[in-house]
Amino acid sequence: MRSLLALCGAAILLAACETAPVTGRSQVMLVSDSEERQMGLQAYREVLSREHLSQDAQASELVEKVGRRIAAAAERPPGELWRAPNYRWEFKTVDKNEPNAFCLPGGKVVVYTGLLPITRSETGLAVVIGHEVAHALARHGAERMSDQMVTQLGATAAAVALSATVSGRSRTYLPTMMAALGAGATVGYLLPMSRAQESEADRIGLILMAMAGYDPREAVALWERMRAASGGRRQAEWLSTHPADTTRIADIRHWLPEAMRYYRPR
Ligand SMILES: [Zn+2]
Repeated sequence: MRSLLALCGAAILLAACETAPVTGRSQVMLVSDSEERQMGLQAYREVLSREHLSQDAQASELVEKVGRRIAAAAERPPGELWRAPNYRWEFKTVDKNEPNAFCLPGGKVVVYTGLLPITRSETGLAVVIGHEVAHALARHGAERMSDQMVTQLGATAAAVALSATVSGRSRTYLPTMMAALGAGATVGYLLPMSRAQESEADRIGLILMAMAGYDPREAVALWERMRAASGGRRQAEWLSTHPADTTRIADIRHWLPEAMRYYRPR
């Protein structure tokens, strides 16, 4: 009986396998697209209820401008690179001295003002927003939730938990969802995205920023500034889960020719 259940679990996992955009990496996906959006919206409302929006009109306008351009690129996938998400995009600037940013499923982008001294320019901000939107496009939050469900519950129980989620009790998963999406800094804990997911978001993010008319070569300098900012003092959570190490910068240099094919300067 036990082995039959295990087998069933494995079959469900196989059925729930998806392919990530651009890289073609296999992902176990136990959370549906609509469930993920619903949870993204809940997490977004939770964040907005806890945080204060920035009164700095210049900062908010910059975030909105860059965000709109990256979002427009995300909605026009070149060839079959990804599916157009048809998100209801929103862009909010939170007044908080932490270098943090995230994009929740459904297209809710949040940037903390503490990030702006590091991004410095419009193009620098495009690197970060491109990276965060790429996490959403590749459904990394839902993937991480799925991985956690499998690890904690085993495949069979994960499938049962999934059906409970689908039947509308997703509120139970809100804290997991927020942490999985990197919105966890506001709820007190944060689980790092996997190295593979970070790497994938970097690669897709370069394509997005290039499509939006921002020079992807600027990403090298941005991640170098990020590394410098994270050195010394206690690392901010966003920085520690986004290791701006030499591997990342080397990878970005390696992917630049791919991104440059999509670059149309404005
Ligand atoms: Zn990331």
